[in-house]
Amino acid sequence: MVARALFRAIIMGPPGSGKGTMSQRIVQTFGLQHLSSGELLRTNLANGTEFGLQAKSFIDEGKLVPDDMITRIILHELKKINQYNWLLDGFPRTVPQAEELHKVYQPDTVINLNVPFETIKERLTSRWIHPSSGRVYNTDFNPPKVTGIDDLTGEPLIQRDDDKPETVILRLQAYEELTQPVLEYYKNKGILEVFSGIETNKIWPHVHAFLGKKLPTLR
Ligand code: AMP
Repeated sequence: MVARALFRAIIMGPPGSGKGTMSQRIVQTFGLQHLSSGELLRTNLANGTEFGLQAKSFIDEGKLVPDDMITRIILHELKKINQYNWLLDGFPRTVPQAEELHKVYQPDTVINLNVPFETIKERLTSRWIHPSSGRVYNTDFNPPKVTGIDDLTGEPLIQRDDDKPETVILRLQAYEELTQPVLEYYKNKGILEVFSGIETNKIWPHVHAFLGKKLPTLR
């Protein structure tokens, strides 16, 4: 029996570009394992792990956590899903992270969601959360019935510290300075695929068609 080559994909895009939604659609449609660095960090924060505690101040201030710290935990997690096709989301965010990843895994494709910064700024600062259930509202297109109040429980909504306007600007600056060069890194390797647009629903059919060609046996 000939072993089937594993498919390794990365999804990139500024915070608020719809990366999370797009990743969900990709993993559900194409059966990939999903590893999100942001989710991994939030789980560690919620569980109060040592790694979560070390990362907290960086995240709250809209800064990237140090390369060696995040790279170590991501490579550790990837090892666990080594025998599956996977989609990596939110990592790498800097060229040193990309270089370290490349030493171990060479991605087949890097999907970049190219969404205008203005759209992203508006989107991120309008996101409100009901902390105990995780319900997400958006004051523009999915507002709660009463401003600042959860529809089901009547409890107050909060804004994630890193969704506050001043932090969002810092996150976008970090993206521009540190993550744009990663796109260049993958472009030079000939594996960067750019998908431009404003709405996830409009970008999705293009991503779907592209991955359908790459993974014909799955869909
Ligand atoms: P995200 O939900 O992907 O925007 O991640 C939330 C926060 O986690 C970011 O603002 C960073 O502080 C941190 N983070 C996530 N991924 C990385 C990464 N690859 N390198 C450094 N910091 C990261």
